[in-house]
Amino acid sequence: MLKAVTVPIFRKHILSGLEAGRACAFCFSVCLLLLSPSNTPMALATKLPPLQLCPCRPKPVCNPCFPTLGKLSCPSRVFRVRCATKRTGKRRYPSEKKELDRRNKNLIQTEVANREEGFWRLYRLNVPAHKDPGKDFLGVSLPLLEAVAKVLKFPVASMLPQEAFSIVRKSFDARKLLKEPVFVYTVDMDVKQLLNLEPRTWDFIARLEQKIGLLEYMLHKKESDDLIRVIHDFRGTCSAMDKDRLDILSNEFYRFQSSGRPKIAVVGSGPSGLFASLVLAEFGAEVTLIERGQAVEQRGRDIGALAVRRILQLESNFCFGEGGAGTWSDGKLVTRIGRNSDSVQAVMKTLVHFGAPQNILIDGKPHLGTDRLVPLVRRFRQHLQGIGVDIKFATRLDDLIVENGRVMGVKVSDVWLGSDLKSQIWPYDAVVLAVGHSARDVYQMLLRYNVDMTIKDFAVGLRIEHPQELINSLQYSALASEVCDGRGRVPVADYKVVKYVSEDGANSSQRELSRSCYSFCMCPGGQVVLTSTNPSEICVNGMSFSRRASRWANAALVVTVSAKDFDAFSCHGPLSGVEFQREYERKAAALGGGNFIVPAQTVTDFLENKLSVTSLPPSSYRLGVKASDLHELFPDHITQALQHSICMFDRELPGFISKDALLHGVETRTSAPVQVTRHAETYECVSLKGLYPIGEGAGYAGGIVSAAVDGMYSGFALAKGLSLFQGDTDTLFGKPQGSSGFVKY
Ligand SMILES: Cc1cc2nc3c(=O)[nH]c(=O)nc-3n(C[C@H](O)[C@H](O)[C@H](O)COP(=O)(O)OP(=O)(O)OC[C@H]3O[C@@H](n4cnc5c(N)ncnc54)[C@H](O)[C@@H]3O)c2cc1C
Repeated sequence: MLKAVTVPIFRKHILSGLEAGRACAFCFSVCLLLLSPSNTPMALATKLPPLQLCPCRPKPVCNPCFPTLGKLSCPSRVFRVRCATKRTGKRRYPSEKKELDRRNKNLIQTEVANREEGFWRLYRLNVPAHKDPGKDFLGVSLPLLEAVAKVLKFPVASMLPQEAFSIVRKSFDARKLLKEPVFVYTVDMDVKQLLNLEPRTWDFIARLEQKIGLLEYMLHKKESDDLIRVIHDFRGTCSAMDKDRLDILSNEFYRFQSSGRPKIAVVGSGPSGLFASLVLAEFGAEVTLIERGQAVEQRGRDIGALAVRRILQLESNFCFGEGGAGTWSDGKLVTRIGRNSDSVQAVMKTLVHFGAPQNILIDGKPHLGTDRLVPLVRRFRQHLQGIGVDIKFATRLDDLIVENGRVMGVKVSDVWLGSDLKSQIWPYDAVVLAVGHSARDVYQMLLRYNVDMTIKDFAVGLRIEHPQELINSLQYSALASEVCDGRGRVPVADYKVVKYVSEDGANSSQRELSRSCYSFCMCPGGQVVLTSTNPSEICVNGMSFSRRASRWANAALVVTVSAKDFDAFSCHGPLSGVEFQREYERKAAALGGGNFIVPAQTVTDFLENKLSVTSLPPSSYRLGVKASDLHELFPDHITQALQHSICMFDRELPGFISKDALLHGVETRTSAPVQVTRHAETYECVSLKGLYPIGEGAGYAGGIVSAAVDGMYSGFALAKGLSLFQGDTDTLFGKPQGSSGFVKY
């Protein structure tokens, strides 16, 4: 009886505390005592060291490393786990509530300029999933009009004309804390059109008041354009400028090496290189795009040969080749650098220009999938060639030509013919380095020129794979039957979990003792793929097709690592993080036993620290998995952080720990392990003139969209430096949202 009453109370207390970032050790201990050990995940959790959940009472730190998990019941091993959830609604702190009230008050006092026209943006309109026409419907349905009518306090929803509304955003929310799963809409209401079509709405419009994040008024609807149109419009305005300025511009050209136009090499055709090339070429630079890998047509065949015949082409694989690392991927276009910012919108619209479906502009979690990315990249290439970009595939940058501390050109070799005799030197006025984080040879080369590089935090871990049906049912319960292999009304279920695990005694100022454990690059309905660029190393990632119809759901489960973790490799200087990655990739290859076989272990065995002896559950990884003890891979503190976070993830998603869940080793290339220091405004490398390090490899992006945005801004910055562009990028796109290159999509 005591147990029946107290457990729910304590559990509720703990969970709400966890969500608010504070929980009480007492409650947690009591709960552990009272809960039945027959509860599988909890039983596993109890085998791990007790978790101290109260950050307000830190214990003295004796050892900065995570304690060993050898004997699972040792009481002295104390971890603290905090959740990273945003406080909303009733969970807001009083100071946050006060600030919100103040902003609301200011907004209400701002006079709505003209109530008879303009637009109202209505946020957070919830339509229950069972009433909504489904994820692929982007029109205005009657249930949505009902939600709008509620906000307007308009009595008859069906009288609201659909034409007056347009969908800005549509997402699916199936969190358990909701009464029922809902589609959440953001909608723009065109007042003039509404009053024309239904004058009886006037009384209601006249009474509307602004409320931050719920109901906001704008006189004009802001429509962003794709990048090509933005540049064309800008150049159109420029051509109307006075002749003097154009003379200055053309005089500037004379200082360039040959044709009178600045000659730029962009190295790497990933998102950052493609967008930088686009901007520079549209502004009139003579651009050569140098790519070590193959065009998507041949690259597809090379990836096929890897999957079927185990042939790894060193220069044409999942990381290298046209479109960059993200071409054979899930093509998630989510980003943490501000989805609604003008720069991100310009990138998204440009993707639509090159064939991405319109729904990426509306979908709350847009994704493309490999089948859509490949033709998109091809169209991007055709456009670049159409505006004069010379694209050199199978051409690898081997060296920079440096004179008097300035890059004057590049030394490249033809990797398709595999002959060093094919090495050539090409002169350029500037070199944009967009090589991604797997170009370790380029990092080495930069080191030879004493290019200033700093060690950057990143994350390492394992890739977990569950049956997709399991994830659907964990997330959607009864609604799981509506997924229908991606053809159904609700999206194929995904998840995102984050926990902070820190050693006993660490407080918020001791960041080096805390590790973030999180899932990322979740590929619903996807497959695990090999992203090694060298046959003696194994690293994995995930991809999927647009419909996300495979039987599996995979995601990286990673733990942050920083300079302290790379101490053992300090002789490699700023590249110690690269050596750290390489070390675990080699270990994974050895554990797998060669032939690209990936070491794997079930989640339950990984938590209990025992080898998976019975047969492993099936894996989507095509080249085979081998039952291995994944504890042999990483240092103990990383393995333990992963174990603890998995237990915590299971509390958020009960069933996450399952005998059908398989861990694959290793996931090491989550983002660049270094950052190449560059000037904040010119994007030029601070230690080598004429070099422009951009994108993920340079440590300034983490994902397709942020890399594209970085490429775009750097293109503008360089165009400005070359006097091809005389405007202000901030006016066009706003200030770049500084990406540390750590924040992932
Ligand atoms: C399997 C996989 C799945 C992913 N899924 C997603 C996802 O769903 N969503 C997301 O946002 N991100 C995803 N990513 C990450 C994303 O692909 C990268 O963040 C993004 O591509 C980085 O862009 P970039 O232009 O900076 O570099 P990259 O895309 O890495 O491009 C670098 C290019 O430079 C070329 N290159 C390298 N060295 C040389 C040289 N010496 N000479 C000539 N060329 C060279 C390479 O061949 C490559 O084409 C995924 C990555 C992988 C590997």
